[in-house]
Amino acid sequence: MVYMKKKAAGADDIVGKVVRGEISLHKIEDYTDPRSAAMARRKAIETMTGSELESIGSSSLDYSQISNKNAENVIGYMQMPLGVAGPIKINGSNASGEYYVPMATTEGALIASVSRGMKAVTMCGGANARVIKDGMTRAPVFELGSVNDAADFVDWIGRNREGMRKAAESTTSHGKLKEIVPFLMGNNVWIRFSFHTGDAMGMNMVTIASEAACEYIERNFKKARMLSVSGNMCSDKKESAVNNLLGRGKTVVADALIREEVLNNVLKATAASLHNLSVKKNLLGSAMAGSSKFNGHAANMVAAIFAATGQDIAQVVESSSCFTLTEIRGKDLYISVTMPSVEIGTIGGGSSLPTQREALSIMKVSGGGNPPGSNSLKFAEIIASAVLAGELNLLAAQSARELGKAHKALGRNAKA
Ligand code: NAP
Repeated sequence: MVYMKKKAAGADDIVGKVVRGEISLHKIEDYTDPRSAAMARRKAIETMTGSELESIGSSSLDYSQISNKNAENVIGYMQMPLGVAGPIKINGSNASGEYYVPMATTEGALIASVSRGMKAVTMCGGANARVIKDGMTRAPVFELGSVNDAADFVDWIGRNREGMRKAAESTTSHGKLKEIVPFLMGNNVWIRFSFHTGDAMGMNMVTIASEAACEYIERNFKKARMLSVSGNMCSDKKESAVNNLLGRGKTVVADALIREEVLNNVLKATAASLHNLSVKKNLLGSAMAGSSKFNGHAANMVAAIFAATGQDIAQVVESSSCFTLTEIRGKDLYISVTMPSVEIGTIGGGSSLPTQREALSIMKVSGGGNPPGSNSLKFAEIIASAVLAGELNLLAAQSARELGKAHKALGRNAKA
């Protein structure tokens, strides 16, 4: 342990030194173990800011697992309410059966709303779900001297895929380079690499692998100079057309046929009323607003599931991209969701932390799957099915003008 190398110091002594600026916040682990370091840092912050951080420090979790791995300058855990929605029946290619879905949220009414949608879907035989594309991307940007050099470079890329693949895959046992798509603008070229990443979300994995591919490129095509391993055509944590068209992470679809009696009795709606609202709201309203997200509230389900299961929360931006479509079939309602870029992992990153791992285990998708990759595919189908249920229920709640009522009843308990 690093801290053993330094002279051990008492907790009060460390707090005093931090407050006086003699030990910087990020160096406390050099003097004591991770739990005591978090406590000392917290006390120093309390002293310097005049705050009381008792709840933040109340966790019994193992600080050595997170400190300088998942976070720096740790002072405790931020705790969120965790609930489960469901069960929902899913007839997927990978997820098959009934599932409870963990959701971490501070938004009252959300889990109840998704649960009602899940009940309706389950009563109608369940959601069908399929992952139709799987590939995590990195797109380095290269600069060349002229458009001629850039065009020659694009030709060279087409002829040297095998060299790039070998270089990239030398860095990982689970990462497999599947697709290389070049984009040219002026004298610049972006190469969008797409990898299968097994059960990992894969951002670290594909970044390291792409760097190795870039080194191969610069060795063998001397006129190309890599400016950055990420040239924003990836496109990570940003709204983008490229992810919607080519996919990123898991591209997943789900649908269900909601029978008339379930529409009437559970959702207090009709197929005609929900379809009409879906067209006017999800399609026309979004188009008029200039939004590329043609859905009701996919981000609600995605964010709560991401928070519960240790996903990279900033990737909610593109993971919640969703096209919600409806059709009237007789007196029944057909509803589908198409999610082009669901970026998730069941191993690595925050998914390996204790509470997050337990949340994943509720859906039996914790850790590496057998075969590798199967857990993350299953998880993607569960997320799309939960989004489908949430979308369905929101349409029903809004068409029945229940939205405000539900939030008043379930979400407004704030004390003045
Ligand atoms: P990771 O924990 O860095 O990599 C996954 C690890 O799990 C690899 O070492 C892999 O080994 C191993 N592994 C074991 N069993 C596996 C299985 N069944 N499937 C897949 N891998 C398996 O996680 P990551 O998903 O690549 O990266 C996630 C992290 O990246 C998150 O913390 C996120 O916040 C962060 N992130 C990084 C960037 C960036 O630019 N670097 C950008 C955004 C987010 P092998 O590689 O040997 O197969």
